Amino acid sequence: MKAIVKTKKGPGIEVQDVEIPAIGDNDFLVKVGASSICGTDYHLFAWEENKEGPNWWDQTLKLPVILGHEFSGQVVEVGKNVTSVVQGDRIIASPLMPCGKCATCRAGKSEFCLEAIVGLNVDGAMAEYLRLFSSATIYKLPDHVGYKAAALIEPLCVALHGVEASGIKPGDTAAVFGPGPIGLLTMLLLKAAGASTVFITGTEADKNRLELAEKIGADYAVNVEKENFLNKVKEVTKGEGLDFVFEATGAPSVLSDTFLATKAFGTIVFLGMYAGSARMDINQLVIGNKHMVGSMGYTGTTWKRALALVASGVVKPELIIGKTFPIADGAAAFESLARKEVAKAMLVP
Ligand SMILES: [Zn+2]
Ligand SMILES: [Zn+2]
Repeated sequence: MKAIVKTKKGPGIEVQDVEIPAIGDNDFLVKVGASSICGTDYHLFAWEENKEGPNWWDQTLKLPVILGHEFSGQVVEVGKNVTSVVQGDRIIASPLMPCGKCATCRAGKSEFCLEAIVGLNVDGAMAEYLRLFSSATIYKLPDHVGYKAAALIEPLCVALHGVEASGIKPGDTAAVFGPGPIGLLTMLLLKAAGASTVFITGTEADKNRLELAEKIGADYAVNVEKENFLNKVKEVTKGEGLDFVFEATGAPSVLSDTFLATKAFGTIVFLGMYAGSARMDINQLVIGNKHMVGSMGYTGTTWKRALALVASGVVKPELIIGKTFPIADGAAAFESLARKEVAKAMLVP
């Protein structure tokens, strides 16, 4: 089968012909319906070294590995000890497959176990077939939920976890920094949660993504190279500032603006992994009694609610899909993201 493989430490990926994974008694085999390229996959493709120290993936990535942790598919073969699925089930699954033995698992936080992560330290879904372990947390798809929308439930969970952590209420105002997939999904969720006004920001390079954001629900899509974002917030909120800011760029340079845009007692949620350390004036936090919240990953209940939002049609993650590529054109898919042509690139076998 064709698969997109990260083979070495350094830029690039390879499309290879590899064996269909053989399954043991405790595994099951999924015929991949769709997988999508995440910011994480893109970082592994681009391989920008962190000059200040180790990269965040240094401890988890095991090479060579088939990439892809945002996926959906159909179960085609089931090991004899596996009881969670039967042949024919259409499923999605958390890429974190708990080991049951590590300190995190023993502390009852198995959904955050990092021992077996699909597409990082066990083979992932950018291939025709994917082997999962019996420990995988799976969610069965209703028939009417398509594979592409379903593959986006994992990143939707990342965004939903952040929105939940914020405590936003209907009628509140918010801004999302960064119109990448997580930023756009966060914007869709904020609108679904009843936010009265949602800004999204980006640069000239994000032009296409900002246009998309406006088309699918953002109230104000601000190109910060053409318009002064803080002035725009002041104007729209009549000088008050925003209740919530969601930071999804990972760019240290925007940190100061996230605080300046937030009103007193407001909250800034950090969803992006930072490319390096950032500087800010802590007085901006102290004087305004503002809150900073970090958000990564998700819990089982996040998955259930994300699936319910998609199945009911309340949130349509497929709106952010720009282009779908066959696995064989994997390199072209990653390059289109490098040019920021699309927000989300999908892969189909
Ligand atoms: Zn991801
Ligand atoms: Zn564990």
